[in-house]
Amino acid sequence: MSEVIERVKCLIIGSGPAGYTAAIYAARANMSPVLYQGSQPGGQLTTTNEVENFPGYPEGITGPEMMVELRNQAERFETDVRDGWITKVDFSGPIHKVWVNETKEIHCDTVIISTGASAKYLGLPSEQKYLKLGGGVSACAVCDGFFYRNQEVVIVGAGDSACEEAHYLSKLCKKVTMLVRRDEFRASKIMEARVRNTQNIEIMFNTETDEVLGDGQVVTGVRVKNNVTGETQELPATGFFVAIGHKPNTDIFKGYIDLDETGYIINEPGTSKTNVEGVFVSGDAADHVYRQAVTAAGTGCMAALDAERYLAAKESFEEVER
Ligand SMILES: Cc1cc2nc3c(=O)[nH]c(=O)nc-3n(C[C@H](O)[C@H](O)[C@H](O)COP(=O)(O)OP(=O)(O)OC[C@H]3O[C@@H](n4cnc5c(N)ncnc54)[C@H](O)[C@@H]3O)c2cc1C
Repeated sequence: MSEVIERVKCLIIGSGPAGYTAAIYAARANMSPVLYQGSQPGGQLTTTNEVENFPGYPEGITGPEMMVELRNQAERFETDVRDGWITKVDFSGPIHKVWVNETKEIHCDTVIISTGASAKYLGLPSEQKYLKLGGGVSACAVCDGFFYRNQEVVIVGAGDSACEEAHYLSKLCKKVTMLVRRDEFRASKIMEARVRNTQNIEIMFNTETDEVLGDGQVVTGVRVKNNVTGETQELPATGFFVAIGHKPNTDIFKGYIDLDETGYIINEPGTSKTNVEGVFVSGDAADHVYRQAVTAAGTGCMAALDAERYLAAKESFEEVER
């Protein structure tokens, strides 16, 4: 016999700063939110040791600790936090249908998408080793650049974001070496000019990462290879930044929610509204610009308030109709 279909007022998909902040606001507005955590409970911040830029923690806090605190705060107001992965949605009709782990079906009055995005890495074993150790590999200059003040770092990437991050790092670090795989940038001319005109950024074209070097705990350098001459050399560096893009976790919404060419959800400017009434978005799933915990939390608040106002307007309309 098939399971009884559950009906929820507010379903939140994702347990990063966006999802938990949406949950805190939705719960305090009596929307009885149900939150599915997905395969990474706590989201991206659980992969970092130090969070020093989230307001309210003057001494900093580890990512996992911060996410436990956000979960506790959401549960204090009776958010129903559940394990499970949303595998399918159907937003084509007036009822928003969602499936958990391909079996359980839920009908939702409102849905808040907070599924985040995943940074892309090169995939080298040495890169992954020091990433997991928290020993000098990062995909976020704004988050981690501060730890490398007055040091030498290497950054990989050739697009606008890579140029933006290299320029950001150049203000903190002694030297930034930028590895560009081809013989030209993919970035806009203005961004390219910005890095070319920065004195402490060295650009190496036709150059790829051969190995991230370290002492077993932290990064000490990068071995690079010229893909035209085959020549290798070792660059001293304490930080290795990867800026080759992000992949928003939005595949399941394709065909229902408007996405841009990279897969970021398109929201109505200044709001969390998507193209589907009653479906809202928050956090990195719609943000290719800021990608910070505090902006994710801010948009989580917006999504809960937008959902609450949507439900209130719908209920008033239904009352008038009766
Ligand atoms: C190593 C690292 C260090 C960082 N350091 C900082 C920092 O110091 N300061 C800062 O402000 N920012 C930092 N960031 C960026 C910050 O982590 C992100 O901006 C923030 O986590 C985005 O929050 P989010 O809630 O949008 O998504 P995420 O944190 O990415 O969370 C997404 C959630 O969605 C869930 N999910 C995805 N798909 C599904 C699905 N189909 N069903 C159910 N659940 C799903 C996942 O399991 C996860 O819980 C860092 C990022 C990284 C990777």
